[in-house]
This record gives sequence, structure tokens and C-alpha cells, in this order.
Amino acid sequence: MTLIALHADVLVTMDEQRREIADGALVAEGAAIQWAGPTDQLPQQYRALMETGQAQVLNMRGKVVIPGLVNTHHHMYQSLTRAVPAAQDVELFDWLGNLYMLWSHLTPQMVHASTQTAMAELMLSGCTTSSDHLYLFPNGSRLDDSIAAAQQMGMRFHAARGSMSLGRSKGGLPPDQVVEDEAFILRDSLRLIQQYHDSSRHSMLRVVLAPCSPFSVTRELMHQSALLARAHGVSLHTHLAENENDVAFSREKFGLTPAQYAESLGWVGRDVWHAHCVKLDAEGIALFARTGTGVAHCPCSNMRLASGIAPVRHMCDAGVPVGLGVDGSASNDGAHMLGEVRQAMLLQRVGHGPAAMSARQALEIATLGGARVLNRDDIGAIATGMSADFVAFDMNQIAYAGAGHDPVAALVFCTPTQVHTSVINGRVVIADGQLLTADLEQVLGTHRTLASQLFKAAYQS
Ligand SMILES: [Zn+2]
Repeated sequence: MTLIALHADVLVTMDEQRREIADGALVAEGAAIQWAGPTDQLPQQYRALMETGQAQVLNMRGKVVIPGLVNTHHHMYQSLTRAVPAAQDVELFDWLGNLYMLWSHLTPQMVHASTQTAMAELMLSGCTTSSDHLYLFPNGSRLDDSIAAAQQMGMRFHAARGSMSLGRSKGGLPPDQVVEDEAFILRDSLRLIQQYHDSSRHSMLRVVLAPCSPFSVTRELMHQSALLARAHGVSLHTHLAENENDVAFSREKFGLTPAQYAESLGWVGRDVWHAHCVKLDAEGIALFARTGTGVAHCPCSNMRLASGIAPVRHMCDAGVPVGLGVDGSASNDGAHMLGEVRQAMLLQRVGHGPAAMSARQALEIATLGGARVLNRDDIGAIATGMSADFVAFDMNQIAYAGAGHDPVAALVFCTPTQVHTSVINGRVVIADGQLLTADLEQVLGTHRTLASQLFKAAYQS
């Protein structure tokens, strides 16, 4: 089926010329974009399809259309544990310490339901591709539970098989109850790659290997995961240099900075991305730039946990691939992807002055930047041959009143809104602001019930 979107007030392409097309149009056939340009230049063959009713037509008048936003870091199961009182006002290590036992009561159904909720929230906020880093698997939970949810929601998904193996008794941070055996982790990782990983262009599902962090796995697991990932051409992901305590742990345990530690394990390259890197030093930035190692910048989470201001301006100037992540919902209790773009822009300004990041630079990080971080060249832009992932925001909302002279910047400067339309892989998944792939009320009802079950299980045991 051919899909034609017409008359966008502005079509933001993020193509090589970074064209912003007034009265823009695009054509998608199946999963791929065939053409983008001004509506009055729509090629005749597509006009003919419209006239004979052989194309699905979206009228985008009054809308700004942008490439679907790419979320490079999340823990979707945490949607069940937002605003937990014991984890509201503490830094990373205490925050984790106060949540691990709660999370140890997760069930497969909870993983599935929270992934659906998190994806609905992301999709409504402009995101079309997301990674998710699931790193604990209590009570029979598996990565398969979140993969099934992604397939139901119709979201492009990079499912990161997280892991923790270094329990408290061995000098790690997590309690022993939530860690797994390393041989099992590697076996399960291989199973998931073989069962699900699709490396093809326009792939809707890729598997990623993602030991959780230097303080929750061993060196050996980091090393073995890298070997396994490279043998199968899948990406690697973990947390790195999140705050001062994280850096202190690395220096104390390994005698290395986080960047040196990553390099010593082979955890650099275009197939690797690290979340946070708030405390990545100049040497680390140079290393990441040289090797094409990516960073998932999570501004809300970094503010929420008072981790600091990641040196994103310096990273971008040096050529480090940087994408955005909302991070898990227990450290950013609002997973609004366009909102995250806004916070990224604002936070760099707090750290480095008003010219540190423009609205368009922030949007570019959230689209092309995210694509690069996920090691993809088929998403992040609206151009011929790219995946048909785009979203439209209705500019006739109160949030954008008075900002009509620069609607593209308005998307980032003004209060973030929800999308009017979302198309993922050529399929309309949101129309008129309504999610079409799931019954949102039902998803939220199930989620509410399970969140309260989780709390009861944790606090009554
Ligand atoms: Zn995280």
C-alpha cells in the first residue's frame, strides 16, 4: 500500500541538506520512503494513485512533520515503580539500593504490561524507535515478554538483554537474589539473538547485549558478552560514568577511569553505546570520538538523581555519536520523548551558556543522533530509501500559540505536546491523537492492577 502525507506546514527532513520543506509531502511504499518534497511537486504517478483511491492519504495541514524520535535508553519495567517514596530523594547507588528488592517481585505479566504502557507513552510523545534495557529477570521473566509487547504495539525495537551477575556477597551493588549465573546469561543471550535478531534494513527488531553496569557484573561477563555480540553482529550497551560514585567505584575496583575500563574490555566501537557518561573525561571523549562509540544522553534522569550535566556540547564538537534517552521511569518519572529533547537543550544551556544547544541541534540528536548510536542508517531522516517513520504535531494547540514564525523551534521551546499522527514502518499507529495498536484504557487498567500487586508483594514479604 502507498501512503501519501500532504500539505505539512513544515516537513523537517533531517536529510543531507537538512531541508525544512514548507507545504511538504512525502510518499511511503511499504516500509520505505520513496519521495519527499513540496506538495506541488508530488510526482504524477503518486497523484494518479490518489485520484484512483489506491493510496492512503494523510492531510497534514496545520501540522509539523518530523522524523520519528529515537529513544536510546530506557528500562520500561520501571513504569510500574514511579515516584516510589523511598527512591525520590537519593542519588544513584542509594536509589538502586532502595529499588532492587521491589523489582525482585516482577513477573512476566508485569514486564509485558509495563512495556506496553511505556511504549504507548513514548509513541504518543513522538518516539517511533526505542531500545529497552531489561536487566533483571525474576520469577520466570524473560526478554521475550517485552519483545511480545513491542510486536503488539508496532514499535521499532532494540531489545537489550541486560544482566547482573555480581551480587553483594561478591562486592557488587545488587542483592544476590536478583543476579543471574553468567553461563546462563550467555546461553540465553545466544538464544535471543538466534530467535529474534533481524539485521535487515528496516528491521523492526534487533537484539542487543547489555550487562547492566561495571558495579553489577564481572569483567569476564563484559568481555564474553562483547565476543558473543561481535560473533553475531549485534550491538553492545551498558551504563557508564553516570556520577562521581560510579567513577570512584571504577578507580577503586579496577584502577581505571570508566572510559579506560570500557576500552580495556573492547567496549568501544560503532557497535557500542553507553548510557549517561555524565562524568566522561576529556580522554574518554577523545576515545569515544576516535572509535565511534555512542552515548545515550538522559538529561531528566541526570537531573532527577543529581548526577550532573553531561558534556554533550563537547562530545558533539569532538564527533562522538550522541542520542537521547528518557531512561527508566523510576529515575525520570515522565517518559516524554519530545520533552526529553527540550530538557537536553535546556540542560546544556545551564552548563555551557545559551548557545550551547539550539532547538534544531537538539532535534537532530533525537533523530539522526539516535540512529547513529543504535548503529542504523535507515532511520532518523525523511528521505528516499529511509524507513517510513514520521510523526506530526498539531500546531493549533495552546502550547504553540504565538510561535508560528518558527514552528520547528517551537516544538522544542514550548511545552511538549502529544502527537497527532504517528507512522512506524509505513503503518499508521496513531491517528487524531489516538493509539490504534492497543486499547490504551485496557493497557492502563492492567498496568495499574499489576503496579499495586508489585507493591503489595514487596512490602508484605
Ligand atoms: Zn539506565
